[in-house]
Amino acid sequence: MPKRSIRDLDLAGRRVFVRVDFNVPLADGAVADDTRIRAALPTLRLALERGATLVLASHLGRPKGTVKPALGLAPVGARLAELLARPVTLAADAIGAEARRAIEKAGAGGVTLLENLRFHAGEERNDPDFARELAAPVDVYVNDAFGAAHRAHASTAGIVPLVADAGAGLLLASELEHLGALLASPARPFTAVLGGAKVSGKLEVIETLLGRVDALLVGGAMAYTFFKARGLPVGGSLVEPDLLDATRRVEQAAAERGVRLVLPADHVVADRLDADAAHEELAVDDPAIGTRIGVDIGARTRRAFAAAIGGSRTVVWNGPLGVFEIGAFGAGTMAVAHAVADCAGTTVIGGGDSVAAVARAGVSDRITHISTGGGASLEFLGGRTLPGVAALPDAAHP
Ligand code: ADP
Ligand code: MG
Repeated sequence: MPKRSIRDLDLAGRRVFVRVDFNVPLADGAVADDTRIRAALPTLRLALERGATLVLASHLGRPKGTVKPALGLAPVGARLAELLARPVTLAADAIGAEARRAIEKAGAGGVTLLENLRFHAGEERNDPDFARELAAPVDVYVNDAFGAAHRAHASTAGIVPLVADAGAGLLLASELEHLGALLASPARPFTAVLGGAKVSGKLEVIETLLGRVDALLVGGAMAYTFFKARGLPVGGSLVEPDLLDATRRVEQAAAERGVRLVLPADHVVADRLDADAAHEELAVDDPAIGTRIGVDIGARTRRAFAAAIGGSRTVVWNGPLGVFEIGAFGAGTMAVAHAVADCAGTTVIGGGDSVAAVARAGVSDRITHISTGGGASLEFLGGRTLPGVAALPDAAHP
């Protein structure tokens, strides 16, 4: 571990700001899946045992710099209090008088959860004034938010030089250790499976991943931007028109590097995104798609992807292959989940929805490493330096 760890920090009697990733799904005003909260518990418990006063900060969703009450962290605080079995004081604001008041109220050895960082535009802009405000009430900084480490934001980068001491939390360290081992010497063939909806973010990392992998399987909504660029009929499928050239560059780079780029050969098309929508399987070049939407990979593609995964010694998967939240459009995602679980090699899964899909398939315990970061794990495995990691001080050499 080349970065200073929380274990190396003097925490007793100090106010410790922990950047956590509590960006969890909510339903009906409660936490729908607390995996990310649980993942931070070892770091939080260690800090409390060592006498720290905790000040926790996270983003939730994309409020884009304005206060969106539906994205408040109160439900997260309630769940955290249950899991820690101690009170958690919610600060009405991440900075200023409200933050100070909550920290005072929680008292020495207490736990304060600051309100959603992204209610302030300064967070994502890495605004120095916002970073100073975050740093003002605390002594020590710990980053345990692997899922946000690929972004240079005020709470992941700007704040670090403004505190007396800083280090990596246990979750961040564990992610770097697992993924770092994979990055250093992946057993080959090394296959990446990419799907999901966040095409723009992921297309950028594909270019770096291409330098590492032997095969790249693309499904989900992302495939439709490739299809559109190839001149195939995409109907009403999710396409990012700004990225057509980017997909052409990816295709060219894959060809130059000898990476096998596999796109779906067939798909499930539906009238609308609805459980009772009429749907059928078509070849991807079949114009019968009309105005319908591509919602899943087809049976031929499921078999091809499963075979490629089965023949690999390292597999990295991020992004569902279809709209798996709707059972009828989840066959591709379930087939890939089982194929990854059955693979005898090293397997890594990242991304909130992909991790949820693996849990739904009931195969989570047959995956080598389930990462808490989607974009962050892809960028790291693509060989990029994560700004949130780079910002932390290096470990002292004894
Ligand atoms: P992750 O959270 O694993 O990183 P993303 O958030 O990028 O994955 O993508 C997950 C979403 O992608 C899911 O909500 C799923 O419904 C959606 N998706 C997958 N395939 C398609 C498709 N063909 N059309 C529209 N949405 C899709
Ligand atoms: Mg997601």
